[in-house]
Amino acid sequence: MLDVGEKLPMTRANPYDLIVVGAGIVGLATALQVSRSGKHKIAVIEKETGVARHQTGHNSGVIHSGLYYRPGSLKAKNCREGYAQLLQFCRAEGVPHEICGKVVVATRETELPALQELHARGTSNGLDGLCWLDGNGIREIEPHCAGIKGLFVPQTGIVDFEVIATRYAEKIRAAGVDLLLGERVEAIHRGSGGIEVVTPKATLQCRVLVSCAGLHADRMARQTHEDLPIRITPFRGEYYVLKPAARSLVRNLIYPVPDPAFPFLGVHFTRMIGGGVECGPNAVFAFAREAYRKTDFNLRDTWESLSWPGFRIVARKHWRTGLGEFHRSFSKAAFVRALQRLVPEIVAEQLEPGGAGVRAQACGRDGKLLDDFCIIEDGNVIHVCNAPSPAATASLAIGTTLAGKAIERL
Ligand SMILES: Cc1cc2nc3c(=O)[nH]c(=O)nc-3n(C[C@H](O)[C@H](O)[C@H](O)COP(=O)(O)OP(=O)(O)OC[C@H]3O[C@@H](n4cnc5c(N)ncnc54)[C@H](O)[C@@H]3O)c2cc1C
Repeated sequence: MLDVGEKLPMTRANPYDLIVVGAGIVGLATALQVSRSGKHKIAVIEKETGVARHQTGHNSGVIHSGLYYRPGSLKAKNCREGYAQLLQFCRAEGVPHEICGKVVVATRETELPALQELHARGTSNGLDGLCWLDGNGIREIEPHCAGIKGLFVPQTGIVDFEVIATRYAEKIRAAGVDLLLGERVEAIHRGSGGIEVVTPKATLQCRVLVSCAGLHADRMARQTHEDLPIRITPFRGEYYVLKPAARSLVRNLIYPVPDPAFPFLGVHFTRMIGGGVECGPNAVFAFAREAYRKTDFNLRDTWESLSWPGFRIVARKHWRTGLGEFHRSFSKAAFVRALQRLVPEIVAEQLEPGGAGVRAQACGRDGKLLDDFCIIEDGNVIHVCNAPSPAATASLAIGTTLAGKAIERL
């Protein structure tokens, strides 16, 4: 892990070409792609004392293949391109990863149309080798998994995205990028001389700013875009892990058919690259943007969510699903029942609490949870306003897009 301690350079007389806000995987990938030309003076500003401390360091570690996403969407395009770039990066840098494939399993007749749609999307998105499975076929791949029909996706893999982000950080530092850790951006001003970025220690100047602030993306965006039509709503995803004696119940990755009304994939089983098997994540409305524990509460964050007209529409429409998620959060028995639909033999005693992550999910004023990536360009300020899964998989492709937008302004 990289440490703090650098002094912020005073740059009023000597501005940066580019400042990136946020040292998550998207911000670091953006800085990496811009730094490749060696022509630009770049800083990455991160409020935490290390990189990858939020979504990037608290995710499932799945290299997504591009199965789920609407053909033509930014997710579909960037996931496919990012997938190829990520594998190339891992091979070149010796980052441990494994392409183990996954099964997506329907356990009820009512899920079959959605599974069919996933097959169609995957095919349109260019996935080769998708393979239909009956009950026996599912058990050949995952002997303890029950399902009436399944889809095998050979391209899916596993990796540790914190390792990837740390590697991006090492590379950008080596390329001369200033990685300013432990510095919170508090304000962004546009003036005749460029953009001013205000932190508690200094006011930095740059010609172009790219904000990749994850759970705080909308706050950064409102600095230059007052009537921003979206608000970040935090959804915590909680995991259990299989105790060592139960790990043989899962060989690789087992996913349910996701509910098409929601941008989340449903609780699943994930073998991790570092060993062990995670079960989850659920998707519980969080009472703080960085609420890694059930008891975490932040008044400002909660007020901002609840007072947003779009969130109130979501809550009215989906209160039943939301209550189900809270129930699964507080009742281990309910969480286990969801897992048993995929692996009926699992019992509560085989699970122990794992970690949690918080998803930055953008919600529109009209009550839509944004499904696709969202980038808002405001002159020389570019805001990444929605970068949920598979943005870790897609990081190098999103970084290439953002780098292109930044460089054309320099
Ligand atoms: C539970 C969970 C499971 C997931 N599983 C997967 C998966 O298996 N595969 C996959 O591809 N994707 C997955 N994702 C999605 C993926 O993790 C995210 O899309 C990705 O990490 C987003 O990266 P980011 O850089 O945009 O955000 P982040 O990693 O959240 O980084 C944003 C950074 O900005 C910093 N910041 C914010 N405000 C300021 C400020 N004012 N000043 C300075 N710094 C600031 C934050 O401290 C943070 O470090 C998952 C996400 C979650 C939460």
